[in-house]
Amino acid sequence: MGKETVSVWILGDQLLLDHPVLFEAEKYCPRQKMRVVMIESDTRIRHLPYHRQKLTLLFSAMRHFAESLRERGFQVDYLRARNYATGLLQHFETHQPEQLLTMAGSEYTSRKFQLEKLPALFTGELTVLANTQFLTGQFDPYPKPETGKRYVMENFYREMRRHFGVLLEKDSTPIGGKWNYDEMNRKPLPKGMKLPEPLAFEPDQITRQVMREIEEAGQGVGSAEGFNWAVTQGQAEIALSDFLEHRLKNFGPYEDAMTTRSATLFHSLLSAYVNIGLLTPMQMIRAAEQAFHDGKAPINSVEGFIRQVLGWREYVYWQYWQQMPGLRSANSWNAARPMPQMFWDAETEMNCIRHIARRVIDDGFSHHIERLMVVCNFCLLAGIDPRAVADWFLTFYVDAYDWVVLPNVIGMGLNADGGKTATKPYIASANYINKMSDYCGSCRYHPKQRTGEDACPFNYLYWNFLIEHEKTLRANPRLGPNVLGLKHINEDERRKIKAQAAEFLKSLPLYE
Ligand SMILES: Cc1cc2nc3c(=O)[nH]c(=O)nc-3n(C[C@H](O)[C@H](O)[C@H](O)COP(=O)(O)OP(=O)(O)OC[C@H]3O[C@@H](n4cnc5c(N)ncnc54)[C@H](O)[C@@H]3O)c2cc1C
Ligand code: SF4
Repeated sequence: MGKETVSVWILGDQLLLDHPVLFEAEKYCPRQKMRVVMIESDTRIRHLPYHRQKLTLLFSAMRHFAESLRERGFQVDYLRARNYATGLLQHFETHQPEQLLTMAGSEYTSRKFQLEKLPALFTGELTVLANTQFLTGQFDPYPKPETGKRYVMENFYREMRRHFGVLLEKDSTPIGGKWNYDEMNRKPLPKGMKLPEPLAFEPDQITRQVMREIEEAGQGVGSAEGFNWAVTQGQAEIALSDFLEHRLKNFGPYEDAMTTRSATLFHSLLSAYVNIGLLTPMQMIRAAEQAFHDGKAPINSVEGFIRQVLGWREYVYWQYWQQMPGLRSANSWNAARPMPQMFWDAETEMNCIRHIARRVIDDGFSHHIERLMVVCNFCLLAGIDPRAVADWFLTFYVDAYDWVVLPNVIGMGLNADGGKTATKPYIASANYINKMSDYCGSCRYHPKQRTGEDACPFNYLYWNFLIEHEKTLRANPRLGPNVLGLKHINEDERRKIKAQAAEFLKSLPLYE
């Protein structure tokens, strides 16, 4: 039945070219008559002091998306409002829609609003469609774990590969004979290896206007100056092609490498786009698969990249919905210290953290292994409150949203969810950072010293963590080897480690 007044509400992180709500609404009403409402919510963007480049990316992409809808013949009611409720009420009052369609948000609070509060605000016919930004929404391959059983990402990933027919031979076995090429993908960067520069996108008039507004509002950390992210589907597709052409080939071997020379190495820099709908996960997966078939990249790089998108990304989203709302307050190591100041100003003698914090403050980005094995590793060893760490990530990173930060930071990085996301805590001493980076060579600290004035803080904090949690860690079969090292540390050395760790943590300036 045709309706006179149909409205569609598209959230800011749902900038899908083929948004399912638009197709659904066209069943009831021609696009020239339907109204698309989009809202920049003050409350949402002031929840944390978000990085100005993150806000620029989101608002500029939203405004470009609204323009593209207008060009396709839709009427768009683009609003700035105190919050979603006031924006929607304003829209309802002006346009009196009989029917409202929207797609379920990826984040817990937006979905809760749509399912619980919106029905009370809107008296017409409300439809909340299932979210299509994730492949798990289209296929839930993993049975609910039995009580007390852990979730394993590798099984999840293989099921996804089988279900979607990705990198498979005709007989459904994995191409190349193996599901996982991780052991080929742990190389440090060779000295002097030439690193590609990722594409930079010149801000257009819309983006420059957003940058001006954000700078004038004086809200948030960092600066909008120097913004060069893609803000349209077309630009995001160019960024994807640039990655396939220039970086995918070396993505695998060096995906865990870290260097003072580059924040991005051979990574794709696509997370910020796929998280707001400028790209889709399957588009990225099929493009990488095609690059393999065209002989442009080896299997270990292609499989490694696809595992990130089809495996890890989908798995953390699935974990988020399994564990919410409890995940937000999970704290199984009872960590309570506030976030160290050095993550807010990069003022530290720890060379690795200084470089990473500087990049994040300037550009809102650092790559995966720096997030996991430097920032989270430090915060877990130093007993930083998981919620404070998650808020830091949400504040600074251009690609950070609740559904991806909570399982990655609280689950994987800090192991604060009781091991549901990852079966072991990702902890390491300076040895790992020294092996995988060139940070230690020019650091004031010594990566091989465990105690003493020049000892790297990662070392005494690591051993202190093992001593403090020895009993719990011994109970975890995957951590046995780490704890075994404690056998070689005598009581006197243990006392020194504990004293130096306590002294370091006492004198560490905190962000309060
Ligand atoms: C502590 C921690 C915090 C993180 N915070 C975020 C975040 O706020 N936003 C975010 O999108 N990713 C996050 N990740 C995942 C990952 O680090 C980033 O997706 C990646 O670094 C983005 O850069 P890239 O696009 O160059 O990724 P690449 O290294 O090129 O990987 C390809 C793609 O795989 C996906 N991906 C890979 N690993 C993950 C993962 N663990 N979870 C979700 N997607 C993944 C991303 O879409 C990424 O674009 C976090 C990981 C950790 C350990
Ligand atoms: S010595 Fe320690 S603090 Fe310095 S760069 Fe290496 S790991 Fe980081």
